[in-house]
Amino acid sequence: MPSLLIRNARLVLPGRADLPSGSLLVEGERISGVFPGSDGPTTADEVIDGAGFAVMPGLVNAHHHSYSNVLRGTRNDRRLESWALYTVAHGYVLDGEAIRLAALLGAAEAMRHGVTALIDHAPHVTHAQAALEAHRESGLRVGYAPFMHDRSDHDLLGVSLPDDLRPAFDAPNRPPETIAEFYRRMVREWQGHDGRLQVLLGPNAPQRCSPALLDLWGRLADELSLRVHTHLCETLPQARYGISESGGTVTELARRGLLNDRLSVAHGIWLEEAERDLLAKHGVTVSHNPASNLMLGSGTMPLVDYLKRGISVALGSDSTNTGGAANLFEVMRLALMLPRPTTANELDWPTPQSVFSLASEGGARALGIEAGRIEKGRLADLALVRLDTPLMAAAEPSLNTLVMHGGAHAVQATMVGGRFVYRDGKVLSFDETAMLSHYQEVAGKIVGAASDRLRLAERAEPYFTKLYPPAF
Ligand SMILES: [Zn+2]
Repeated sequence: MPSLLIRNARLVLPGRADLPSGSLLVEGERISGVFPGSDGPTTADEVIDGAGFAVMPGLVNAHHHSYSNVLRGTRNDRRLESWALYTVAHGYVLDGEAIRLAALLGAAEAMRHGVTALIDHAPHVTHAQAALEAHRESGLRVGYAPFMHDRSDHDLLGVSLPDDLRPAFDAPNRPPETIAEFYRRMVREWQGHDGRLQVLLGPNAPQRCSPALLDLWGRLADELSLRVHTHLCETLPQARYGISESGGTVTELARRGLLNDRLSVAHGIWLEEAERDLLAKHGVTVSHNPASNLMLGSGTMPLVDYLKRGISVALGSDSTNTGGAANLFEVMRLALMLPRPTTANELDWPTPQSVFSLASEGGARALGIEAGRIEKGRLADLALVRLDTPLMAAAEPSLNTLVMHGGAHAVQATMVGGRFVYRDGKVLSFDETAMLSHYQEVAGKIVGAASDRLRLAERAEPYFTKLYPPAF
């Protein structure tokens, strides 16, 4: 079993805001020892002098749509319901190769930000194979959550589209048994692959699933022992729909027995107090996506309140064409700062330590992986961060320094399961140069292919705009 010793580094340790010096031994895919000060072994197959570095647990992007990595710079100046028309228009024309490139572009970005694991909530189920092959190639730890849904926003939200436009925006009409067979096959072929890949159920959103699909959700999660990842109450119209339909989306999920600690939900901005308590009671993880929520004007998740209620929270970047870069450092800073203007007591404000724990341990909990902490026995999903640069140097480096000043500029190396995937500016797990040059050849074509569909989106948009009154 290969061993790696990182000596004399600053360590990000559970429950500590400082970065004590110490050494870290990795054997195989796990951390086999954490040694304070100058204690510990001095030899291993590879020894790294960690002077000038911090070693931190890898960050986990707990809500991401990897397909959007080929849609950087496309329309992101609308609210969710209208924005979705455009991203879906692009999505329709992505082929397997585009999906593969998107996953690898995202991986190259993730590892530069010290991200070692992510949840890919994936609409393009017909290209699941291409996505999973790319995730395998990437070297990252990935929870792949292919969508299922059979109801459309325009139906749910009472948007009366003209008859000639409606079919273009209708949800797919796959029978539940076809969907079940798809997930069974995915699990047979990919569950636990390389010890890094995990298949999750990915209901698009509870309200976008008919009662038959909600039944299937419960049955398949049990039959295949799957974790589940879904969107939840991202916008006000969605929450209002949930209240009018069933007394609240979360209440309905509770009634159906779908709330448990294997469920993670993205956004959860517009929740009633009783619904928040239900999430806490059942150990559901909420993935907080502040950059995306700001960009689409969706609202601000009440992080302080959720943490006080004991809700498990993780952090996510969401789509590249909403939240921008899949940069968990930026997401941590937003999570840290956003609640402050509306939280009277400074002692209740999130701290660098608390947001770091959401981005690491919180995400690991959402994926059910033994990572997220530097601790003996945990998976060696780690990042080495330079502290001796003009952007990071501080009198006494701490978690505060790391969260407030960290970024891709500081990440020197990223390791997943004891294997470096990125080091000294180079992606080691796949041929990034070939991937990028191929992407640059086809990037224009990928975006340009959506032009007919984009015209339909432009025609449909005014009908969705009415969901939001001029002032609310
Ligand atoms: Zn999303």
